[in-house]
Amino acid sequence: MNRNESLKICLRCKFFRLKSVDGGVCRNEKDSSGNYPPKVNTDQCSFWEDCGQNYFIRQGWIKSQAKEGNDPEK
Ligand code: SF4
Repeated sequence: MNRNESLKICLRCKFFRLKSVDGGVCRNEKDSSGNYPPKVNTDQCSFWEDCGQNYFIRQGWIKSQAKEGNDPEK
């Protein structure tokens, strides 16, 4: 994966909704059960679109969760 491809992750995508420190759901398309499919922050797909500043807001939220001890991996 080159640098440009590594930036095209769910955490930087406008269709992503962050739900926890390491994942959320993709709102591009619902699955066969009518739910948005779960994704981890580093997942990728060809429908990716830049979420702009939201990426930095999401990163800030992840950092604040870790600081508050809400990150199960810390
Ligand atoms: S799966 Fe694709 S469209 Fe959905 S949030 Fe991730 S990169 Fe975006």
